[in-house]
Amino acid sequence: MGRTENIYHLQRIDSQLDGHHRRLRDIKAILDDDRTIKEARAKTDAAEERLHETQKNLRSAKAHVQDQRAKIKASETRLYSGTVSHPKELEDIQNEIAALKRYLDVVEENQLERMLAVDEAQENAAEVQDQLDKALAEAESRNADLLKEKSEIDASVAEFEIQRQDQVSGIDADDLKLYESLRRKRAGVAVAKVQDRNCTACGTGLASAVYQQSRSPSKITHCDTCERILYAE
Ligand SMILES: [Zn+2]
Repeated sequence: MGRTENIYHLQRIDSQLDGHHRRLRDIKAILDDDRTIKEARAKTDAAEERLHETQKNLRSAKAHVQDQRAKIKASETRLYSGTVSHPKELEDIQNEIAALKRYLDVVEENQLERMLAVDEAQENAAEVQDQLDKALAEAESRNADLLKEKSEIDASVAEFEIQRQDQVSGIDADDLKLYESLRRKRAGVAVAKVQDRNCTACGTGLASAVYQQSRSPSKITHCDTCERILYAE
């Protein structure tokens, strides 16, 4: 292998490694991101709280209805007990019973409303629980896929690292330094292939002299525009 060809092969290995590392970072970010689950959990917590509140309200409404019925029963008992005989007093009790019954309608209506509120809260709680279960199942299956992909990439990285070591051993130390510095400056790409007399990295057409020089396997030629090392097959 010629001097530039060696560097070009190193570049190809490094580009693969760069791609792998980018994907590994993405995978980590997705695995670490539990926002959807957290949001779904917050919804189920709120729904449970709402359900308990409506149940509590219903209990108090039921107690109110029972209380009202007891009052009516007590008045009716008094009315039919025979202990009250005065017509005015009997009329008062009858009026009182009528008023208590009117108010019973109100508290019963209230109880009904609260029953409906409990039903609604129960439905909502079941719905958001279902959403949470789905989110958890989706995350589990997605994470399993990602972990599988991660282990495949890890294995590939290990292989490329071995290839890289091998490739580096055949490159002159100064060339390696130049390559690394260009990689830092040029978004990871230090070597550009020449195709149809163009630099494939920046698209510039090469001057004739530069093109001729780039074809030399023993000489390092830079693209005039992007400064990258040119590699012509
Ligand atoms: Zn260029």
